[in-house]
Amino acid sequence: MHADHPLDGRHALITGGGTGIGAAAAELLSAAGAKISLLGRRIEPLQEVASRVAGAAIRCDVAVPESIQKAFEEARAANGPIDLLIVNAGIAESAPFHRMTRGAWDRIISVNLTGAFDTVQAGLPDLLNTEDARVVFIASVASLRGVPYAAHYAASKHGLLGLMRSMAAEYAKSKMTVNAICPGYVDTPMTDQSVARVSQITGRGEGDARSAITNMNASGRLVDPKAIANLVLTLCLPLSRDINGAAITIDGGTSA
Ligand code: NDP
Repeated sequence: MHADHPLDGRHALITGGGTGIGAAAAELLSAAGAKISLLGRRIEPLQEVASRVAGAAIRCDVAVPESIQKAFEEARAANGPIDLLIVNAGIAESAPFHRMTRGAWDRIISVNLTGAFDTVQAGLPDLLNTEDARVVFIASVASLRGVPYAAHYAASKHGLLGLMRSMAAEYAKSKMTVNAICPGYVDTPMTDQSVARVSQITGRGEGDARSAITNMNASGRLVDPKAIANLVLTLCLPLSRDINGAAITIDGGTSA
């Protein structure tokens, strides 16, 4: 292991790797020496990031188990067995609970929670067969508290912590750790979409809506996606092997 490239030779697979937090994680893990596989539904953003990190761009819908299986085979063909699995793909929607449809509930749960389950299941044979394997879930402050108008999203993200903690306990004696990062509002396309939704629902301008969302973080600023990526990188380092079963907030003090 080279000091400047502590992840030399390791294969990091990142779901939702074409944008936002996933793309930022790809850059830092690649700079640390990892080989990168990027999965997502839209190929263009994946290819754009892949060209910067010499990674593999692989189309995948995590709501479809066969799509995950196929994508993981492509990733193995490109970069070998998976050592580091970043479970990041996610979607958000808003609706008052009394108008929340079963369809919206199913959409959110099938990507954010069942998609995470299927993703980890697909990677598990590799992860249990390598040294210092890592699973890092990108959860949310919505994993720790309720979110008005987003019961489905909060339920999916609470569920991720149950999955993460159970796996960490079950595999504590293995060479794999399983952790979750719980960000506050981050400066990514997902937050841009939330701003647009709040603006539409409340009739306020986009500037007002953005500052309302920004102020949901106690710091009064959005979290930089690179800061989340930096925590992903830290959890992937060999010296982090005893951080296991942790849900780490990075939210500017919101959950303090
Ligand atoms: P983005 O919208 O930029 O990232 C979400 C990524 O997930 C996209 O690249 C998207 O690509 C991918 N994705 C969505 N649905 C699927 C699917 N069915 N199959 C495969 N990939 C999918 O926003 P963020 O970077 O902010 O989001 C990353 C994670 O961080 C999410 O899990 C989100 O819940 C979480 N998070 C975000 C916060 C924020 O404030 N932004 C706060 C807390 C947590 P494509 O559409 O091409 O499939």
